Amino acid sequence: MPEIAFAGRSNVGKSSLLNLLTNRKKLARVSGSPGKTRTINFYIVNDAFRIVDLPGYGYAKVSKSTTENWGDMMETYFKNRDGLRKVVQLVDIRHKPSAQDVQMYEYLRHYGLDGIVVATKADKVSRNEMQKNIALIRKTLQLSKEDRVIAVSALKKTGYEELLCEIEKILEEEDAVYH
Ligand code: GDP
Repeated sequence: MPEIAFAGRSNVGKSSLLNLLTNRKKLARVSGSPGKTRTINFYIVNDAFRIVDLPGYGYAKVSKSTTENWGDMMETYFKNRDGLRKVVQLVDIRHKPSAQDVQMYEYLRHYGLDGIVVATKADKVSRNEMQKNIALIRKTLQLSKEDRVIAVSALKKTGYEELLCEIEKILEEEDAVYH
């Protein structure tokens, strides 16, 4: 089954987004204490594809050895997933992407899994700021014109249809290749 994975810093709003995408209220745990989810979770959507919830990275209080384990886990995951089609990178719309975000995106580019960035918590900025911040995200992650940045608010439930459209496109492209 094809897989679409989601990556981002702890507390970026990944669980909230995945709850929205999978239409289930309490599927992924929305954390009050960031940095605790250290396993990879899978959710099957409409019998059509799997959503892969990669553990959040970059929480300041995570120890070095935990960070190394995270890297090992990612490495193992990426190398053994035939079904993996894309990794959606999440960044908080309010902040300039961190060095780890940049590193993560470079990693995805290296594996050919890049192309979709979700700017989370879009309700927290004005329309004006939104454009400005998306430009900063584009610049910091060195996105190309083809790369998509989709502003999503899990709170206000906006932007996620656009993301689902992008995911559908990816799944269709695959159908065209394999059938
Ligand atoms: P995760 O650690 O990446 O899984 O992040 P969570 O989904 O647990 O969210 C972290 C915090 O951000 C929680 O306090 C959420 O309520 C909050 N949050 C998540 N998404 C949104 C959003 O779209 N808008 C706002 N305002 N807050 C959000």
